[in-house]
Amino acid sequence: MMDAGRHPNITLLSYSEVENVSGYVGNFDVQIRKRARSVKEDLCTGCGTCQEKCPSKVIDMAYEAGMGKRKAIYRPFSQAIPNIPVIDRDNCLWFTKGRCRVCAKVCPTGAIDYDQQDEIVTVKVGAIVVATGFAMWDPKQLPQYSYGESPNILTGLQFERLTNASGPTLGEILTAEGKKPERVAVIHCVGSRDENAHLYCSRFCCMYSLKHAHQVRDKTGAEVYDFYMDMRAFGKAYEEFYERIQREGVLFVRGRGAEVEVLADGKLRVKGEDANLGRPVFVDVDLVILATAIEPHADVGKVASIFGLGRTPDGWFAEAHPKLRPVETSTAGVFLAGSCQGPRDVPDTVAHAGAAALEVVRLFNQGEVTISPTVAVVDQAKCVGCGECIISCPYTAIHRNADGKAQINAALCHGCGTCVATCPSGAITALHFTDQEIVAQIDALMAALV
Ligand SMILES: Cc1cc2nc3c(=O)[nH]c(=O)nc-3n(C[C@H](O)[C@H](O)[C@H](O)COP(=O)(O)OP(=O)(O)OC[C@H]3O[C@@H](n4cnc5c(N)ncnc54)[C@H](O)[C@@H]3O)c2cc1C
Repeated sequence: MMDAGRHPNITLLSYSEVENVSGYVGNFDVQIRKRARSVKEDLCTGCGTCQEKCPSKVIDMAYEAGMGKRKAIYRPFSQAIPNIPVIDRDNCLWFTKGRCRVCAKVCPTGAIDYDQQDEIVTVKVGAIVVATGFAMWDPKQLPQYSYGESPNILTGLQFERLTNASGPTLGEILTAEGKKPERVAVIHCVGSRDENAHLYCSRFCCMYSLKHAHQVRDKTGAEVYDFYMDMRAFGKAYEEFYERIQREGVLFVRGRGAEVEVLADGKLRVKGEDANLGRPVFVDVDLVILATAIEPHADVGKVASIFGLGRTPDGWFAEAHPKLRPVETSTAGVFLAGSCQGPRDVPDTVAHAGAAALEVVRLFNQGEVTISPTVAVVDQAKCVGCGECIISCPYTAIHRNADGKAQINAALCHGCGTCVATCPSGAITALHFTDQEIVAQIDALMAALV
């Protein structure tokens, strides 16, 4: 991130969202909303005085995963690049009650700007890499895990904060009561591989659960019970790590941890089935870590329509071909990187992102674009300009020309034939799939059969 922040050819637009994309491969116009931070980027030195003095504290549901607080003026996370804070207007006393202004008073460079407005920036780019990642699935959707009913039932993400040196306990693994846990349960596949939530495997939870089991053993010496259906230690040296965690004394229970009950004394009872022994298992513990599923972001449909992306049935962005074109999409010039295309751990994300970057370099080095000859064309004499084709085109490849008639952009057209079937005037033809060609093929087939 530091390297990206300093690179002369990279412009970072953080706290920003793409609102609209028009154009085509080699020639996209991208409209970006730079949201108002209420802090002038060119004046802020990132000294942090505003954050220190701000009197408003709020529970941080993002970076701290609900385990810690942040101020109303804050940096979303400690190594944020650029190192510039933002005012959370919903919780700032000036924006909500019209009083305070402490940050403006203490800022040594006068960088606070309460009147700052969102800015729309338009950039011209030749290619786009979408790398929007994943969201955490909410385990409250499966009430049998009692998530939210005890502060000692954590998601994997919350445990990451708990065990982190900058987390709420400065990295000590403690229960909500401030005690070292004596028994801890780790439950795999919460919401993954489950017909009541997500059918797919979230892919990296087995390995981070093993990491969590190791951290608990290492930092507390507690007994750790690891409930798993089968261990997906698929990567390089992953199986060896699994072996090591077994040697460290973690107790593995082969079977889904099916339920967590909060007992009257606050202890947590994990109920499951040991598939190897073929009998139910009950374990009372002080802390439960749920390896919850991941899922596409809530706005995935909106992002897909902005960038012209397809989606797989489980909601992730679709690649052009799962084996042969894993970073390309159905829109030429738009590529995918990382877990927005499906669950991926860090090594796989880095490899995927590298491949996407190289696809962009390859595209730019070619200097020209090869398009399929199977595209649609409009007979301008027949077109009445009704616009039905424009509405029906899934690739937004059709626009009106100066005469109000349909014009197809060959760089965007995929030759799917939707417009051909839609056009009420019969004015559109798919090249190499004309009626005459299809009829000739049928005739030849019939002749061969007779
Ligand atoms: C609890 C937990 C522990 C893990 N531990 C490990 C581990 O030990 N080792 C390992 O290899 N992997 C681990 N992983 C997996 C790792 O987090 C992922 O592999 C990695 O985050 C994927 O990176 P990404 O860039 O694809 O997605 P993300 O990390 O999700 O990044 C996507 C970014 O895009 C931003 N974004 C989303 N939508 C938009 C939008 N519309 N506009 C602009 N920006 C947007 C997001 O804010 C985010 O910053 C763990 C995951 C979890 C949940």
